[in-house]
Amino acid sequence: MKALDELTFDNRFARLGDAFSTHVLPEPLDVPRLVVASNAAMALLDLDPAVAETPVFAELFGGHKLWAEAEPRAMVYSGHQFGGYTPQLGDGRGLLLGEVYNEAGEHWDLHLKGAGMTPYSRMGDGRAVLRSSIREFLASEALHALSIPSSRALCVIGSDTPVWREKQERGAMLLRMAPSHIRFGHFEYFYYTKKPEQQALLAEHVLNLHYPECREQPEPYLAMFREIVERNAELIAKWQAYGFCHGVMNTDNMSILGITFDFGPFSFLDDFDAHFICNHSDHEGRYSFSNQVPIGQWNLSALAQALTPFIRVDALKEALGLYLPLYQANYLDLMRRRLGLTTAEDDDQKLVERLLQLMQNSGVDYTLFFRRLGDESAALAVARLRDDFVDLAGFDAWAEVYKARVERDGNYSEEQRRERMHAVNPLYILRNYLAQNAIAAAESGDYTEVRRLHEVLSKPFEEQAGMEQYAQRPPDWGKHLEISCSS
Ligand code: AMP
Ligand code: MG
Repeated sequence: MKALDELTFDNRFARLGDAFSTHVLPEPLDVPRLVVASNAAMALLDLDPAVAETPVFAELFGGHKLWAEAEPRAMVYSGHQFGGYTPQLGDGRGLLLGEVYNEAGEHWDLHLKGAGMTPYSRMGDGRAVLRSSIREFLASEALHALSIPSSRALCVIGSDTPVWREKQERGAMLLRMAPSHIRFGHFEYFYYTKKPEQQALLAEHVLNLHYPECREQPEPYLAMFREIVERNAELIAKWQAYGFCHGVMNTDNMSILGITFDFGPFSFLDDFDAHFICNHSDHEGRYSFSNQVPIGQWNLSALAQALTPFIRVDALKEALGLYLPLYQANYLDLMRRRLGLTTAEDDDQKLVERLLQLMQNSGVDYTLFFRRLGDESAALAVARLRDDFVDLAGFDAWAEVYKARVERDGNYSEEQRRERMHAVNPLYILRNYLAQNAIAAAESGDYTEVRRLHEVLSKPFEEQAGMEQYAQRPPDWGKHLEISCSS
């Protein structure tokens, strides 16, 4: 276990130089205090969880203090936002404090979000509010607990600093961790500004640090791109299988590592709805739940365009062609497991599609349906779940096919079925209304609810005593909450 002043820095991105990022110091928050910390994320830095409660922790992650070895930098990037190209974005309110490596040799970027103005702030104030910082904290740690690749969150620091959004709120900082903060938009920036030397440096950097195994391949950059395609196909399959809607899949919010990145008006589905749009300023539904799949490919093509100086166009196209089949295979595999199936049959795709259609028509809770399906034998479970459906004849027909399919799948006990299904079907997900309750309490200075919710979500597959209220459908006020895009 390390003390806070024992972190070891190795600021590899900062060393790329001023063409890639600008030195900026964090602007401190007034009266910084710990809102919530993740013990699991602390462990990634070999930190003793107890240090989160010390005043120096809030000072460090509230922008008052800095390690001597930290080199805070605002990164420059660009990106396609809602399909249109924005020539310059960059860290407008976050700073890469530095890269830390742990005893296992893993490197983690420490990125302080809400750290004040930078040369890339454009019209913004450089700040993040408590509300959105809590949402990102809870979501990134919850996704990780669901085995969905994501950036991580070490802590949220609250403050008395006033920040103006639709109304006056309080500023906060979130300490985000990821092995890299490089986005598709980094490559786009150097491509469209026609800086081939810097672009080559960036590509070398990503290849050496994050895709070293691709070095062994005959065409290392192509191998790297292929790997990025694969990781994105896998990631988006997981989002779709677990009902996660990102909301702002702009290419500046897509990680070069294929992890969930940059949380805004994201939402987990309550009732299944393929057409769900979580970002209410997304009028055309570009980033609706089901559109995440083709948008994933669109974003990869935008990256491919930026990589044309390094990789043959026909090879890029071929690699892009891997996306959809890989996505489909991964998605179907996950959905089979969610249905408790251990084998594959040709008609499984239809079985899944028909179920989702029925759920859509009846507004069935996406998470609880699968959890309950694993509670008992297939026959007993479908008999109980039947009441949730409006189209009873439709559901009965599906249930017959499902029961027969389960029968063919294998001979296992109810206990085995439950264990296997509960291990992939969470009981607890980050529902918007749960986040909202925790935020309301935190805004009035009570952090117990955020902390408890974080705890519950850190073991989403395990039924936890006394936590039934976190495994319910939303109450009426909590359905279809409009999540503000301002953050
Ligand atoms: P986002 O929608 O959070 O992915 O942000 C898009 C761009 O706007 C990024 O360059 C952000 O750094 C920048 N940005 C968002 N909010 C602010 C803010 N309050 N102050 C400065 N820049 C911001
Ligand atoms: Mg962003």
